[in-house]
Amino acid sequence: MTSDSSSGSQDFIRTIIAQDVQEGKHEGHVHTRFPPEPNGHLHIGHAKSICLNFGVAEEQQGLCNLRFDDTNPSKENVDYVTSIQEDVKWLGFDWEDRLYHASDYFERLYQFAMKLIQDGNAYVDSLSADEIRSNRGTLTEPGIDSPHRIRSIKESLDLFARMRAGEFEDGAHVLRAKIDMASPNINLRDPTLYRIRRQPHYRAGGSWSVYPTYDFAHPLSDSLEGITHSLCTLEFQDHRPLYDWVLKSCNVACVSQQIEFARLNLSYTVMSKRKLLQLVDEGHVAGWDDPRLPTIKGLRRRGYTPESIRNFCEHIGVAKRDGTIEMPVLEHAIREDLNQWALRVMAVLRPLKVIIDNFPEGQAEDMSAVNNPEDAAAGSRTVPFSRELYIEQDDFREDPPKKFFRMTPGQEVRLRYAYIVRCEHVVKDDQTGEVLEVHCTYDPETRSGMSQASRKVKGTLHWVSAAHAVPAEVRLYEPLFSKANPADEKHGTDFRTYLNPDSLQILSNCQVEPSLAEARPGAQYQFERQGYFCVDPDTTRDRLVFNRTVALRDSWAKIEKKL
Ligand code: ATP
Ligand code: MG
Repeated sequence: MTSDSSSGSQDFIRTIIAQDVQEGKHEGHVHTRFPPEPNGHLHIGHAKSICLNFGVAEEQQGLCNLRFDDTNPSKENVDYVTSIQEDVKWLGFDWEDRLYHASDYFERLYQFAMKLIQDGNAYVDSLSADEIRSNRGTLTEPGIDSPHRIRSIKESLDLFARMRAGEFEDGAHVLRAKIDMASPNINLRDPTLYRIRRQPHYRAGGSWSVYPTYDFAHPLSDSLEGITHSLCTLEFQDHRPLYDWVLKSCNVACVSQQIEFARLNLSYTVMSKRKLLQLVDEGHVAGWDDPRLPTIKGLRRRGYTPESIRNFCEHIGVAKRDGTIEMPVLEHAIREDLNQWALRVMAVLRPLKVIIDNFPEGQAEDMSAVNNPEDAAAGSRTVPFSRELYIEQDDFREDPPKKFFRMTPGQEVRLRYAYIVRCEHVVKDDQTGEVLEVHCTYDPETRSGMSQASRKVKGTLHWVSAAHAVPAEVRLYEPLFSKANPADEKHGTDFRTYLNPDSLQILSNCQVEPSLAEARPGAQYQFERQGYFCVDPDTTRDRLVFNRTVALRDSWAKIEKKL
């Protein structure tokens, strides 16, 4: 962990918790949890929750658990469990020996449910799901009591035991809390606590035929773990009275307190696991770790570091009202981090051949290049210079617009860390007129770092030596969606309509400087003038693959115009 989180400003949650500690609530102890459901991979929204839960606990010398909220047998699996643990660790958090599963509490939850029935606080209802829904009433009308609401305790106990034993079909009965069908809060109109699902559970096996609902399992799991503050997102605000009712009616020893905060929304992406799953399953992206996704695995592959994500979460803070964070805010966080330590190198993404006519054939000179001007300790390296080079196609214009300070016939430019060169003529394809080669002369007196080298030219270009360069593939990314809020249901259009067809651009003929020959997946660089890049895991011994993490400067105004 970094020390960043302890300097976190006092948001409303930290204020409440600090006050509770001061007042000696729960003996001044703070215990939080991060409770993912293992039905998908984590995304940046989860990172916000992770940073908050682990961060608050650390600041108060408290503890934070990792708990799998695995009460739904149909969508959960052990691959997600493993992946979630990996991601939480990668983000830099440690649950130590406090890894829990709601499914481990199934027996105890069942005992709590029996107690509710015995106390007259729950009953088995045999109406269908549709009937229960239509009896629930509306925001303005009260609900209608189920005919089974007056069922005897004995009969409910018997039916509930047989539900567990697997005697009934899915949907034949449910267990409902007996609260108030006329409550203005619909969540309190006899909510369902257990459903029959004759389906094996990835962890509990085939021994259960009934599964608890979130509203029943969550408060009790919190209480069983001694959680003092149960932090969750705003959509659970209206469930809080039910959360409190469950804890009170079950007469638990530890009464946890639910506090809600705004979930993170990011522009130009979607954050729900269901939608992310759809994108993966339907092949709109290459997998859960596709660098265009806001998943932790996607961000990691894109080149985001744990520090940058933690700094982002700290920067956006915790609020009580939902809002959307602009993507450039996230990009700013990774740029700031990489700027400090990523090595600068030269790579040509769209090569154009340059021939230095007065440079001897078959020779090379070693030029000294600075590794990171932000970090003197990073030192320097040598880069070979020779007669045949590559520069970016964009850096040459035969008919330049005004104020084009790059390479054009008759104009001098500096080649970074090397010499001043002047373009003398070009060789073109007879048929297409495409420029195939640019011929230059160099001035041997202008070698970079020499005292005479200070002649002023307006442009400095990056380059690689053709004979020494290493071929590479570079993947450039644009937003996955062409609409700032693709999931906004108000406009009634499926979010997939807004997929940006240009979100991935593959450049397969790039040339990178030879110092990158041995670069291995995960390594990160600044390609001078091009942005920050990382080596992709698709890299093999014979093929280097890079992802562009982010451009050097915020170019969103331009991107948005184009989308
Ligand atoms: P999704 O809606 O993306 O499917 P979820 O809420 O169903 O996510 P859970 O696995 O239940 O996913 O979430 C675990 C924890 O992470 C919960 O406490 C939840 O409130 C929190 N969380 C999920 N999404 C966000 C988000 N976008 N911002 C902040 N916290 C989030
Ligand atoms: Mg959920």
